[in-house]
Amino acid sequence: MIVVGGGLAGLSAAVALADAGLRVRLLEKRPHLGGRAASYVLPGGEHVDNCQHVTLGCCTNLEYFYRRVGAADQIRFFDRLLFAAPDGRRGEISSAALPAPLHMGISFARFPLLGWTDKRSIAQALLAIARSGGHPTDLSANGAGENLSMRAWLEKHRQTPGAIRRFWEVILVSALDEELDRIDARYGIDVFWKAFLSTRGGYRVGIPRVPLGDLYEGCREALAAQGGEVQLRAGVRDFLVVDGRVEGVEREDGTLETADYYLAAVPQDALPDLLPKAVEENEPVFMNLRHLRASPITGVHLWFDRVVMAEPFLTLLDSTTQWVFNKTLLNGGSENGGQYLQLVISASYDLASRSRQDIIALCLEELRNVLPKTREAKLTKGTVIKEMSATFSPAPGSDRWRPVQKSPVARLFLAGDWTSTGWPSTMEGAVRSGYLAAEAILSDAGMPRKFLQPDLPAEGLARLWAR
Ligand SMILES: Cc1cc2nc3c(=O)[nH]c(=O)nc-3n(C[C@H](O)[C@H](O)[C@H](O)COP(=O)(O)OP(=O)(O)OC[C@H]3O[C@@H](n4cnc5c(N)ncnc54)[C@H](O)[C@@H]3O)c2cc1C
Repeated sequence: MIVVGGGLAGLSAAVALADAGLRVRLLEKRPHLGGRAASYVLPGGEHVDNCQHVTLGCCTNLEYFYRRVGAADQIRFFDRLLFAAPDGRRGEISSAALPAPLHMGISFARFPLLGWTDKRSIAQALLAIARSGGHPTDLSANGAGENLSMRAWLEKHRQTPGAIRRFWEVILVSALDEELDRIDARYGIDVFWKAFLSTRGGYRVGIPRVPLGDLYEGCREALAAQGGEVQLRAGVRDFLVVDGRVEGVEREDGTLETADYYLAAVPQDALPDLLPKAVEENEPVFMNLRHLRASPITGVHLWFDRVVMAEPFLTLLDSTTQWVFNKTLLNGGSENGGQYLQLVISASYDLASRSRQDIIALCLEELRNVLPKTREAKLTKGTVIKEMSATFSPAPGSDRWRPVQKSPVARLFLAGDWTSTGWPSTMEGAVRSGYLAAEAILSDAGMPRKFLQPDLPAEGLARLWAR
């Protein structure tokens, strides 16, 4: 078995296939594993994530994968979500001893950063989602075809401007890496049903205590146990396709490798270049990938000469900066009396053409309002990592371009957050795709196995409405 690509999709598939007894060779182009969820060492010696990654309690497959590779203990879960307004005021959302979907109702009612009319409109829309079991019937623009955008659905449900700006946008732009008018309402509603309404624990935020790369250590061992291996700096140039079937892969160093099955676990924009032109052009599955657009995420890494933040993380309202992570605290380390913060800006289209200095200056200005200690502190170092193709854009109708894991080419299977999983472009989506691909391969080989984990079961009142 050859797996091309060592991101979460490739790793989860490879480990599952090794568990089923297959000898898996994983070929990764870069010098490290993890793909878009990776860490590396900066020229100054700091070990940083390409960007802070968070998981949620509802990401059951990612949790299962971390457990399988011995990394689950390295994820710390938080029950309190802290928000900060530009005037420095804080608000908290957390769970109380009430059944789902009412468990966050008390903190929501007390939340000081939204007005009563905003809250009332939000509560009505959340109730509509909950009572439909996460499947409202008014998603479609004209009763058929493409779904509404999330913004159109919210307008239909008469959400106030404050509710949109300080609630829906804050959660969805970071969860789905896209603006509300470019989000398929189905994806947006799914986030609220799975993370906030159907269970009490779905919203819990999981943050790694270690650099992302450390989470994948157990994968090599899992492959080696069946005689397989991980090869880094092992880019693949082509899948060799003869008479509609893959006969091997040609590596960038010119060597040829063969196997019984091949899994392409590369990003969707990289796949067409690895296939013969005729295969791409004759198979709509591959041509359709061009319709999936990319959205950017910008990560800003700031090192201060002193402690400027007490909370583990903060979500900022009415700001370009969306999340601030206190990496020094989260990693349990020390920065010689200083502090390392990582800021995340999703759907950062407006920052694409701005210089790094400009972005750092903008973020520092915003931090001065919510973290007053940064006013006196000295910034000892700052770096900006712009990921222009961070995720695929969950645009209305985009689901129809996502292929299933069994490709039309014999012996070639597909995995990646962009394949058909029902989930948006996330680590959970990537792992789901890996498990679905492993199941498809084993089924083709006559050795069926199940790896895909179910969603968290609906609880409390939500159970009555769940489908
Ligand atoms: C900045 C940023 C922040 C994010 N934040 C979050 C978050 O907080 N939570 C969350 O759930 N998700 C987040 N995501 C999304 C998440 O990282 C991705 O959805 C997920 O990691 C995708 O995994 P994948 O395996 O499908 O693809 P990738 O991670 O892209 O893996 C593909 C792999 O294939 C390799 N490859 C490509 N071409 C070749 C070749 N020719 N030969 C061999 N190897 C090749 C690549 O090097 C890469 O390692 C974020 C993404 C980014 C970029």
